[in-house]
Amino acid sequence: MDIDLGNNSMETLCKTCSIQLDKIKNGGRFIDKKEILKTPRKTFTANIPLKMDDGSVEIFPAFRIQYNDARGPTKGGIRFHQNVSQEEVKKLAFLMTIKSAVVDIPFGGGKGGVKVNPSKISESEKERLSREYIRHFHRFIGPEQDIPAPDVNTNEKIMGWMTDEYEKIKGRKLPGILTGKPLSLGGSKGRSYATSLGGAIILEEYLKEESIDRVEVAIQGFGNVGSNLAKILHDKGHKIVAVSDAEGGIIDNEGIDIMDLYGKYDGDGDLSKMKDVEEISNKELLELDVDVLIPAAIENQIHEENVDKIKANIILEMANSPVTTEADKVLENSNTVVIPDILANAGGVTVSYFEWLQNISHEYWTEEQVNNKLKAYMVRAFKQVRETSENDECGLREAAYILGIRRVLEAEKSRGNL
Ligand code: GLU
Repeated sequence: MDIDLGNNSMETLCKTCSIQLDKIKNGGRFIDKKEILKTPRKTFTANIPLKMDDGSVEIFPAFRIQYNDARGPTKGGIRFHQNVSQEEVKKLAFLMTIKSAVVDIPFGGGKGGVKVNPSKISESEKERLSREYIRHFHRFIGPEQDIPAPDVNTNEKIMGWMTDEYEKIKGRKLPGILTGKPLSLGGSKGRSYATSLGGAIILEEYLKEESIDRVEVAIQGFGNVGSNLAKILHDKGHKIVAVSDAEGGIIDNEGIDIMDLYGKYDGDGDLSKMKDVEEISNKELLELDVDVLIPAAIENQIHEENVDKIKANIILEMANSPVTTEADKVLENSNTVVIPDILANAGGVTVSYFEWLQNISHEYWTEEQVNNKLKAYMVRAFKQVRETSENDECGLREAAYILGIRRVLEAEKSRGNL
């Protein structure tokens, strides 16, 4: 049975695997070629019983999936969300495998998740749940094995609790177990905004090639990624005309004063309730006539029903999988350029790699060193994806897949698995 890979149907994946494998190895049955990437290597599941503040016990389904480790230890975040399922974690773990390969860091791909609505549990319940997650999965993760990080609704604080729990169980300090930690526990300078900075670097590389100086931007999602990206693009002189969070958004055709907004917004606020602003719904934001549309929230925001109404020239995918397979096919035949998630949002995992390097070497870098190195990795990845799209005559998404899959399969081949 084929698995649903979101933006990337199994058909595309197999075609890409097949083409790449033929280039690196002649012969072999097609079925063998695609099997290697069709299923995750290891899937761990648990039903976590959690003592709630009122003394009752609730069960939370939890997952950790190590999709492929041919290129190195598996790497990827843990999300807390009410819609988490094994199928979703599997898809995201696959995306991490390709993403790490696209930016050419020595990691495979993994992902974790807990099916929980984080707004419905208290802070102390969240801490106990984070620690329980580690108690349930500590045997399967490790600095040389599988390295988690933050993802949707998880943050530095949660990574701090998880690191502490892991180190307590193992009885020694192992900061390389997790990335996206607080600085005080071995976190990296620049990690908190790395995903956003990476996206801004990729966008500017693209604009430079197209000789475009300044763009009008709409951003869906004002969490860590969206809000930091708004600030970075604003600082670089671009005009942010609309931003939104889960409740709704605001628009100002003259350009939103992002610094003012950034100062007032605490992340739990409600953008649409801010004073003296023109409101806009999430649906309307996606359909704005802007140069660049940035979905920076969750999956499947651009789909069959709204894809015909998208007017932006460029979509920079900062969320994972924000465009459905069907919508992607429509966009491919339109004039909209999609800069895919596995390239656009890879800045986070890249600085996670830097954090891990600092942890295992015990030598810590300045913010400038981190950001310069991030720029070098992102620009190299952009150029290689661009080159692949020219050589293989395909769009940027397919090119990023070709590049990433080729690298994973080369490692599989070197291991004697192909
Ligand atoms: N959750 C982020 C992602 O999807 C970061 C993963 C990491 O740093 O390991 O890319």
